[in-house]
Amino acid sequence: MSSHPTRRTSAPPRRSWARRAVTAAVAAGAITGLVVTSPAATASPAAPASASAFNDTRAMDRPTTSAFAAPDISLANVKSHLNQLQTIASNNGGNRAHGRPGYRASIDYIKAKLDAAGYTTAIQQFTANGATGYNLTADWPGGDPQNVLMAGAHLDSVNAGPGINDNGSGSAAILETALAVSREGLKPQQHLRFAWWGAEELGILGSRHYVSKLPSTERSKIDAYLNFDMVGSPNPGYFVYDDDRRVEAVFKNWFAAKGISTEIETEGDGRSDHASFKNVGITVGGLFTGAGRTKTAAQAQKWGGTAGQAFDRCYHRACDTISNLNDTALDRNSDAIAHAIWTLGAPS
Ligand SMILES: [Zn+2]
Repeated sequence: MSSHPTRRTSAPPRRSWARRAVTAAVAAGAITGLVVTSPAATASPAAPASASAFNDTRAMDRPTTSAFAAPDISLANVKSHLNQLQTIASNNGGNRAHGRPGYRASIDYIKAKLDAAGYTTAIQQFTANGATGYNLTADWPGGDPQNVLMAGAHLDSVNAGPGINDNGSGSAAILETALAVSREGLKPQQHLRFAWWGAEELGILGSRHYVSKLPSTERSKIDAYLNFDMVGSPNPGYFVYDDDRRVEAVFKNWFAAKGISTEIETEGDGRSDHASFKNVGITVGGLFTGAGRTKTAAQAQKWGGTAGQAFDRCYHRACDTISNLNDTALDRNSDAIAHAIWTLGAPS
């Protein structure tokens, strides 16, 4: 999460992502009559997919179990990635900041995992504040290239510390979700693309560079961008972005099914990489467990933790280390991320 509020620009009108997907599917000849020929229909004859189901607002009320139920994301695996990021910071002057060796080492660690899992990875270079920055993208082969579902997290820390909650947490959670896609051999209807952004802490510069370099034809293929910036805060809240009704519902329903109440995310508005996408009219969503804001008594009542204390007392400080995490929040958010990828990426 950047401490630099980004300038709000007036976004062009957004089309519903569901309508775009169905339109594209029709154009691609994927729909015969009302039945979509998809892995969902093949794998689960009891629950045939239909064109209308994709665009049906009642889909928000679907149970979370389906032929495409996401696997449980291993907290131990997510923490193993975070331990690696902590080690990288410790070995490189205590941070993983833009322009510092710890940032490039973080990119290399994540890229190697994705390459070994069968992803098509790419590193995009840009210059910011006189230093070279890097974005990493990882495409899962397959899915409809006209309908891209993206999930991203910024990988850079501030100079002050190792940036384990901000934002090793989101980076590790989407990495482990991407690896689960590979392990499960997921054949989603959407094309999946994961991204790790550089120079977010300088004002979402990496993601802004990525979006600025995307031709408009490529932008229009992105049905939704999901952002995960701080998902393991030590005194956590459970916040869901409210930018898009359908995407928001996928997350809210997951938490509701576990008996966990959520609130609309407001602390990070315009302060993380989703803003780069939202500003050009792309549908966005995401999760957040809180930064420098103080947890209220009412929030402590429903979520536990300490009222009157920040969600993350180590936000942008040297103490944002491997011990600056709430394991329960990290585990829940990682599972919710996988649920969203499985639900939005492979609609059944
Ligand atoms: Zn930050």
